[in-house]
Amino acid sequence: MHNGNRKRAAFLDRDGTITEEVGYLNHLSRFQIYPFAAEAIRRLNEAGIPVIVVTNQAGVSRGFFPEEFIHEVHRHMIGELAAAGARIDGIYYCPHSLADNCDCRKPRPGLLERAASEHALDLGGSFVVSDRYVDVQMGQTAGCHGILVLTGYGRGEYEWNRERWPRQPDSVVENLLAATDVILRNR
Ligand SMILES: [Mg+2]
Ligand SMILES: [Zn+2]
Repeated sequence: MHNGNRKRAAFLDRDGTITEEVGYLNHLSRFQIYPFAAEAIRRLNEAGIPVIVVTNQAGVSRGFFPEEFIHEVHRHMIGELAAAGARIDGIYYCPHSLADNCDCRKPRPGLLERAASEHALDLGGSFVVSDRYVDVQMGQTAGCHGILVLTGYGRGEYEWNRERWPRQPDSVVENLLAATDVILRNR
């Protein structure tokens, strides 16, 4: 049930949704924000919708890069978006790998729950935007509107796997900017 005191948020995946999916982003030289991302996030800001990034970064647990590097990437991302007038309200990441069996690695809902608690958000009626079906499914299970973007892994997942999905995404759109249209229409 929607609780009027709590805000509904847009939970955005990072790699393949806001930034170019490059496999493990292990160096800033590979970091690239999609050209439409700042506009998309700015429109959410202007509509008063909290923008929360939720991202799995198993490269830490797997020893590919230090945890500090994640912070470096995020400082860079925040700075580049800010230069284009866009603001991220929170970033939550899971540094673990599947073998760690943590409660925060997507598709488990730990990151969503932590963000909801710390930012007084209502998961019911919030939005999850990702290029991975498991994230969309995680959002739907938590009562969010699940939006699959076709950037990153999205197009391939949609083309090759959608017939096996137990529940279809609530929306399938070209990219984060189109996802923003869906959010602004459905909020
Ligand atoms: Mg992704
Ligand atoms: Zn974790």
